[in-house]
Amino acid sequence: MQGYFFNPNIHPYREFAHRLETLQEYVKSIDFPLEVDRRYLLEDFLLEALQKDRSRCESCYEIRFRQAARVAMVKNFDSFTTTLLVSPHQKHKLIIEVAKRIAREEGIEFFYMDFRPYWQTGVSISRERLMYRQPYCGCIFSEKERYCKEN
Ligand code: SF4
Repeated sequence: MQGYFFNPNIHPYREFAHRLETLQEYVKSIDFPLEVDRRYLLEDFLLEALQKDRSRCESCYEIRFRQAARVAMVKNFDSFTTTLLVSPHQKHKLIIEVAKRIAREEGIEFFYMDFRPYWQTGVSISRERLMYRQPYCGCIFSEKERYCKEN
């Protein structure tokens, strides 16, 4: 088992760097292997997220799952999954739908488990450890939804 960080959806760059640094400190403290893709593909992400024929979250899931699936294939893993399955704020059904499609297209299994019952445990651990906690989902659009109440 191995963790994989690939998040071109996190904006702006300082938020991206802060979340990555938090994760790296955490995995080091629990001795968990993590591969990091540091590419900050802001422009590529925005082009995909602004496609008219699907929601930005669908594009976002697709970009990240496809990359994770491909890395898992290269490394001979049986399956890939996503930490998004723990969040009650994510579109759980859409995650499953997109991940299953990517799994079919890339030829690798998607490991599904509903991790949402463990959400509160994760929150408690992060608070005990005084870890940085993300104030919005990730993309610049979600940052706007969180803070801009003017339109
Ligand atoms: S709201 Fe979250 S899941 Fe949706 S596009 Fe933005 S970062 Fe991705």
